[in-house]
Amino acid sequence: MNVILAIDLGTTGNRVIAFSENGTVVSKSYYEFPQIFPQPGWVEHDPFDIWNTVKRALTDVAAAVGPENIAAIGITNQRETTILWDKSTGKPVYNAIVWQCRRTASQCDRLREHAGFIKQRTGLFLDPYFSATKIKWILDHVEGARQKAENGQIIFGTVDTWVLWNLTGGAAHATEPSNASRTLCFNIHTLRFDDDLLRIFDIPETLLPEVKESGADFGHTAKKLLGREIPITGILGDQQAAFFAHGGWQEGVIKNTYGTGLFVVTSTGDQIPNSGKLVNTIAWSIDGKVTYALEGSVFIGGAAIQWLRDGLKIIQSAGESEPLAVSLPDNEGVYFVPALAGLGAPYWDPSARGTFLGITRGTGPAHFARAALEAIAYQSKDVIEEMRVVTRGDAFRKLAVDGGAAQNNFLMQFQADILPMTVERPVVTETTAFGAAGLAGITSGFWTREQFLEARKVDRVFTPEMDDQTRGAYYSRWKEAVERALRWAG
Ligand code: ADP
Repeated sequence: MNVILAIDLGTTGNRVIAFSENGTVVSKSYYEFPQIFPQPGWVEHDPFDIWNTVKRALTDVAAAVGPENIAAIGITNQRETTILWDKSTGKPVYNAIVWQCRRTASQCDRLREHAGFIKQRTGLFLDPYFSATKIKWILDHVEGARQKAENGQIIFGTVDTWVLWNLTGGAAHATEPSNASRTLCFNIHTLRFDDDLLRIFDIPETLLPEVKESGADFGHTAKKLLGREIPITGILGDQQAAFFAHGGWQEGVIKNTYGTGLFVVTSTGDQIPNSGKLVNTIAWSIDGKVTYALEGSVFIGGAAIQWLRDGLKIIQSAGESEPLAVSLPDNEGVYFVPALAGLGAPYWDPSARGTFLGITRGTGPAHFARAALEAIAYQSKDVIEEMRVVTRGDAFRKLAVDGGAAQNNFLMQFQADILPMTVERPVVTETTAFGAAGLAGITSGFWTREQFLEARKVDRVFTPEMDDQTRGAYYSRWKEAVERALRWAG
């Protein structure tokens, strides 16, 4: 047996990748599935679309590598997305309500008095983003659902749980702490679903999955699926899987995913430090040991570049932003606060709006491109500075990066300069899948942790070169720019 399979359950599509022992991608397959927008602000998926695309991708990859060569399977997934289904028929009660869906905003407003208590128990903010109010919405809006849930006929899962249940032919109804800790019902101190929280959200305990460790025996694929039973030995939410892929269990590692948004994660070991601006979450639970993490999400990261391309049309491809930015000696005083969807961590201001400052008659596309790329780096620094405050330390050793915009060398060098911190970019671009494969492979004995780290090859390291004075000047100007963007629509 010479490969580990990762099943990467994304928001727009599902991917299966086979990794060899030295970390090479041996085979992969990807299928998109439809996004359903029933009303403004609502987002759904058909759970059967999710499962059918997984099945197809899995069949493709198993055929390419030979089912007999697959040592184990790991799963990573879009988090928080909520599915309820009938456990005897396997039929969903309602479409999957996706993490992006805002339909339960008013429900959250009504529970506002509990927000402090909820943060203390779950580490999360009371927000429609997380699963609890989505579960309640389905129970309240689908006829007979609540009754059936109370009778134990209907069960709940995040996407990992739904796919695991289908992979195992209905044998396993389970999840693990990195996903459970995103439901808003999970007590991150006791590592159990919490009765008080379930009462607040009016959710019956009967529908909840078993919570195993992240590296565990989750069962095996049903024989009819691939002609052979293959063990499933690891599950992690997408951001935690990416963090795992970067060796996040080592001291002083921060990871940042530069995709549409920015997702910054660092470990806090066995501590749950108090933070009003960042989410406390569970990185993973392995070998009886839970690792906690701090997470900061920024809404607009690479999307700022997308907007220059598709909205303003001043560039034709995202990659073009790099030569434009380096064509200037510096930003020439132009700043862009890309609060195009309000501001997330660490500002949390939904009424902030996008702002350009410092424009003159000499300003052109290069300034816009440079300001947008710099903004990605400043926003990441804002989150990392908050992490420094919360962890009361400056022990961070390196920023490990992934995601589409991490390919931009100007951005990575500027990020290293402005933090200042070493920025390390690995060769593997499928970081999330690689993390899931890593956990499954380590749990099944395919890799040791050291062997897995060796399989992660570094592409390029960016070291800080900027002098302190210049850095200070840039960053304080950015902070001023943010001040002017805050509360604009409020
Ligand atoms: P997601 O998984 O969120 O869809 P990806 O990791 O695929 O995101 O990254 C896509 C994002 O990265 C887009 O927003 C795009 O604008 C940005 N991007 C891609 N390549 C570059 C580049 N060379 N420079 C800057 N931004 C880039």
